[in-house]
Amino acid sequence: MVVSLNHNVNQTLEELPNAYQTALAQYDRAVRHMELDDNVVEYMRWPRREFTVNFPVRRDNGHVEMFTGYRVHHSTVLGPSKGGIRYSTNVTLDEVRALAMWMTWKCSLVNLPYGGAKGGVLVDPKSLSMREREGLTRRYASELIPLISPYSDIPAPDMGTGPQEMAWIMDTYSMTVGYSVPAIVTGKPTNIGGSQGRVEATGRGVVICMVEALKRKGWTTPGNISVVIQGFGNVGTYAAAYAHDLGYKIVGVSDIDGGIYNANGLNIPTVRKWVGEHRTVVGYPDAEPVTNSELLTLPCDVLIPAAMEGQITENNAPHIKAKMVVEGANGPTTTEADDILHERGILVVPDILANAGGVTVSYFEWVQGLQEFFWDVEEVYRQLERILIRAYDGTATMTEKHNVDMRTAAQMTAIQRVGDALVTRGFYP
Ligand code: NAD
Repeated sequence: MVVSLNHNVNQTLEELPNAYQTALAQYDRAVRHMELDDNVVEYMRWPRREFTVNFPVRRDNGHVEMFTGYRVHHSTVLGPSKGGIRYSTNVTLDEVRALAMWMTWKCSLVNLPYGGAKGGVLVDPKSLSMREREGLTRRYASELIPLISPYSDIPAPDMGTGPQEMAWIMDTYSMTVGYSVPAIVTGKPTNIGGSQGRVEATGRGVVICMVEALKRKGWTTPGNISVVIQGFGNVGTYAAAYAHDLGYKIVGVSDIDGGIYNANGLNIPTVRKWVGEHRTVVGYPDAEPVTNSELLTLPCDVLIPAAMEGQITENNAPHIKAKMVVEGANGPTTTEADDILHERGILVVPDILANAGGVTVSYFEWVQGLQEFFWDVEEVYRQLERILIRAYDGTATMTEKHNVDMRTAAQMTAIQRVGDALVTRGFYP
């Protein structure tokens, strides 16, 4: 038997801005506007637990390859930690730390009884056959068993994972403990306890926030508003579909292989059909090809980055033509780019608000799983909209009250809630 290390590391990794530095810079910026005890500030700056595992997966050719995975619990102050699992060649411990910290603020901002966590495996998901993907997922899940449970840490999908991976994690956990535990993960298929409306929840939430932001600017005619979306995975596809259904003009979309542009608006159902057949938007006939960097600076009213972190930087922020950025992805804008967009009067609806629809419906799924009582999709959509608009209102009020940008306001609201709970609970022992 041959054993080797997995060297599938993406070449561009070093070029990506460090997401953890961005998360810490945002935190430091927010707490400067707050009157928090120094001990509380220091405590919340640190991840609570960090777990690294190297584990084997047998490839279809019999070769055994070693993979590296992480799970970070940033905070458990407000409740069990919650956060997705990512399969990507860009995964690093720092990236997972950043994503876990953002989960803490996101759950707090929308007032869910959760702390923040994130997991990741350094792997190109497209390089795995279905059998290899199942083997990798089940082995990683079994390595996580000491860390996860419905009452301590509840994983969910993120980049490169979806309902099928959640089903394997649920089954691996259930087989280990000896009985079915649907509430161990969210984002499961509905036939094993998943929630109606979960698969589209993040994209739908992005659009709910976009509509709210547009309404407050008095832009209320969807047909006159053009939208560009980077990333055509779970978040990007469902954001595009919902915005298209509401009548917005989606003029550009992209995935990792490239982008497409049509100034008159793309027919999103046919783009989705094309992607279903070709696994990429590239080559779609009724549009011009654009690169991913061109896509970000296309003329449009709203830009929705929905791929990954570190996409809007000091290099392209001066050239962005959108009047508003609604962050579907986590951490797509660096701190330097934030400043540039703010100075240019471009509103940024921050990730922890704009993409909180996913974790919100994950919360509904967890509640339904614990109660074994399931809601219909109308109830899910109604509650989702109620929670997001309440969080949007609270953030907008904080923005005006402290005269800060919306990200700082959202972080301040979220950090204050965690800080207050920490003071109430006290520092153990
Ligand atoms: P996904 O894997 O389903 O899709 C990612 C998409 O981005 C794919 O189309 C991929 O081709 C594209 N992409 C990847 N790298 C790219 C690059 N360098 N340039 C352009 N496109 C690129 O992932 P997802 O679940 O849609 O997640 C996208 C983002 O949204 C991530 O930042 C994730 O953390 C965040 N997010 C996801 C959820 C969720 O519920 N899935 C919830 C909140 C936030």
